[in-house]
Amino acid sequence: MTTISLAPAAHSRAATRRLSLLKPTGRLTLGNLLGALRPMAAAQHEADCFYGVADLHALTVTHDPARLRELVREQATLLLAAGLDASTLFVQSRVPAHAQLGYLLECVATTGELNRMIQFKEKGRGTGSTRTSLLTYPALMAADILLYRPTQVPVGDDQRQHLELTRDLAMRFNATYGPVFTIPEITTPPAGARVMDLADPTAKMGKTGSDGAGVIHLLDPPDVVRRKVARAVTDGETGPAAVRADRATKPGVTNLLEILVACGGSPEALATYGALKQAVTDAVVAELEPIQQRYHELAADPAHVGAVYAAGAARCRDVTAPVLAAAEAAMGLGPA
Ligand code: AMP
Repeated sequence: MTTISLAPAAHSRAATRRLSLLKPTGRLTLGNLLGALRPMAAAQHEADCFYGVADLHALTVTHDPARLRELVREQATLLLAAGLDASTLFVQSRVPAHAQLGYLLECVATTGELNRMIQFKEKGRGTGSTRTSLLTYPALMAADILLYRPTQVPVGDDQRQHLELTRDLAMRFNATYGPVFTIPEITTPPAGARVMDLADPTAKMGKTGSDGAGVIHLLDPPDVVRRKVARAVTDGETGPAAVRADRATKPGVTNLLEILVACGGSPEALATYGALKQAVTDAVVAELEPIQQRYHELAADPAHVGAVYAAGAARCRDVTAPVLAAAEAAMGLGPA
C-alpha cells in the first residue's frame, strides 16, 4: 500500500488538499485502521481529501486478476465503512491521467535513477523475470502526486526517496519543457500509531506479512479476534507489575497496551496477561463492530458504492485534466 499525503499550507478546507493512495495487495488490518484510515478520516474536516485505491500499483508483482478485483472492491467498501464519506474516493485506474502522466514522466526519468530506488534494489534487481513496472512505478507515483499540484507532501522515511525523485522529475520537466508542475516540499508528518504483529511484536502488523496469525483484519469476526489476541506473544513475567509498557524488553505486552488504548480501552487495573488480552479483545471487537456492520450494509448495495467511486473518479478526472493537458502540450503532444 502506498500512502501519499498532500497538504498545501492553507487555511481553508477548500484550499488544502490531501491525497492518500492505498495499494490493494492484501486485506486491510487493524494497523491500517489506526495508522492510516483514522488519520485520513480526521483530515476530512481540515482538507479537501482525495483517497484512492491504487490498483495500478498492485500490478508490479505477479497478481491474480480475480483476487485483485475482490481486494479492490473490499478496500473501496471498507474506506467508506470506515467513515471516509466526506472525501473524494476513487480507484486509480478509473482516472486515466495517472497512467498517462506516469508514461510522460518515464520519458523524463532515467534508468539510472530508477535502478537506484531502494524498493527495486531489494525486490527486483538482478531478477530477469521482474516486471518492468517494478522498475518504473516511481514515475507513476510521481504522477499520482504531481497531478494534484500539492505544495507540501508529508511522508514517512520509507517514502522519502520516492518524494525526492518526484521533485527531481518535476524540476527537470519544468526546466526542459516549461513550468507545468508545482514542486512539492517534503515535510515530516507527526509520528502515528504503529501496530505490531501479535505473533512477532518486533515486526509491523502488515497486510502482506506473516501467515496472518498475528494480524487482525478489519473484517475478522469477534471469535477470530479473540483467538488471535489470546495467542499473542507476551513474556514470562507474572504478577500485576508485569502488565506494563516497555518497548525494549516487553514488546508484546507494550503492543497490546497500545492497541487497547488506541481502541478506547483502559489499561488500569489489569492484574494478569489474561485480563489484558480480554480487555484488548473487547476493545478491538467494539472498535471493529460499527465498521463491519456498515461494511456489510454497503456490500449489500454495490450500486451505491459504485456510484460513490464513479462520482469520485469523475471529480479526479476534472481536477487532473488541466495538469495532464499542460504537460502534454509542453512536451509537444496534441492533435495532428
Ligand atoms: P501498508 O499497508 O504497509 O501499505 O501501509 C498503508 C498505510 O497504513 C500507511 O499509511 C501505513 O503507515 C499504515 N500502516 C500499515 N500497517 C501499519 C501498522 N502496523 N501500524 C500503523 N500503521 C500502519
